[in-house]
Amino acid sequence: MSNWLSRLALTTDLAIDLGTANTVVAVRGQGIVLDEPSVVAIRRGSRPTKVQAVGREAKDMLGKTPAAIKAIRPMREGVISDVDVTEEMIRRFIEKAVGRRPLRARMLISVPAGITQVERKAVRDAALKAGVKEVHLIEQPMAAAIGAGLPVSEPRGSMIVDIGGGTTDVAVISLGAMATEYTLRTAGDAMDLAIQQYIRERKGILVGLPTAEKIKMKIGSAHPLEEELEMDVRGRDALQGVPRSEVVTSVDVREAVAGCIAEIDQAVRKVLEETDPELASDLMEHGILLAGGGSQLLGLDAHLTEVTQGLKVRCAETPLHAVVHGVLVALEQLDTYRELLQ
Ligand code: ADP
Ligand code: MG
Repeated sequence: MSNWLSRLALTTDLAIDLGTANTVVAVRGQGIVLDEPSVVAIRRGSRPTKVQAVGREAKDMLGKTPAAIKAIRPMREGVISDVDVTEEMIRRFIEKAVGRRPLRARMLISVPAGITQVERKAVRDAALKAGVKEVHLIEQPMAAAIGAGLPVSEPRGSMIVDIGGGTTDVAVISLGAMATEYTLRTAGDAMDLAIQQYIRERKGILVGLPTAEKIKMKIGSAHPLEEELEMDVRGRDALQGVPRSEVVTSVDVREAVAGCIAEIDQAVRKVLEETDPELASDLMEHGILLAGGGSQLLGLDAHLTEVTQGLKVRCAETPLHAVVHGVLVALEQLDTYRELLQ
């Protein structure tokens, strides 16, 4: 390849949604090129930390890892628990997504709304170390709003509820900033745990978290369904220790996750209460935008309409990609959105 051509090939603009459960990478002009769990498998006790695998390969090791390997989710709580591991994860995902050091790339990364300056710096440094030329950060609720085409730069309030794996972000955005924001550390993971516990206590069988998550995705709900659902769940009898299956219904699962949903309701109410009345009144018109994988829980929209006494609730078109989609839009119009970036 001639010199100028190879340089051209190295110019890539990347959009990254660094989520607590999933990391999604998109390339300008190409769309999504990588969508994998934010999981890293590391060698136990290695100094410096030796990363064995990232993403899907590492998630498959969760719970089944041989003693020498430990699978961790460095972004689990919406905060970075281990800077080095996060850095390595970002570096490997970039490498996997574009296959080489993206030397001339500009990168826009969405980060959880609640992270600290130190954590922001860590994310930025990780991207720079991976060889990127220019890095900007954007907050996830802002990205979700841009992706959904909400008028974020105008003096009109828009509310976003983004339910991910580790955190639920509730924000009201106006004039290109978050007017009110609350990060709740209860989201999809907490629902999985609640389902696991419910099934142990009420059905007497032990299931792993991956099974609890499958149950949530298949028959989980936040509002009574026209036709309630059920599924056969296989696990280990809590007393006898033998394999056994039980029928679990959507009514069961709703009861199991009710506590988590109540916390989300409270966060929404809190943000509404703290929002300037003028902005809050805009929400009557625009309603709430739901994003994130957890927002796919059946009936959540109807439930939140009830909780807010009638606000319209709209679900993002592709909840799991709403944020990266917005990051890509912001990247494509970097000059328009520059002042919204961190
Ligand atoms: P994050 O942005 O924190 O990485 P995501 O937006 O990728 O999180 O969402 C991941 C969460 O969404 C997980 O907890 C997953 O179980 C949950 N999820 C995915 N699909 C569904 C579904 N159909 N119903 C309920 N929860 C779901
Ligand atoms: Mg997210």
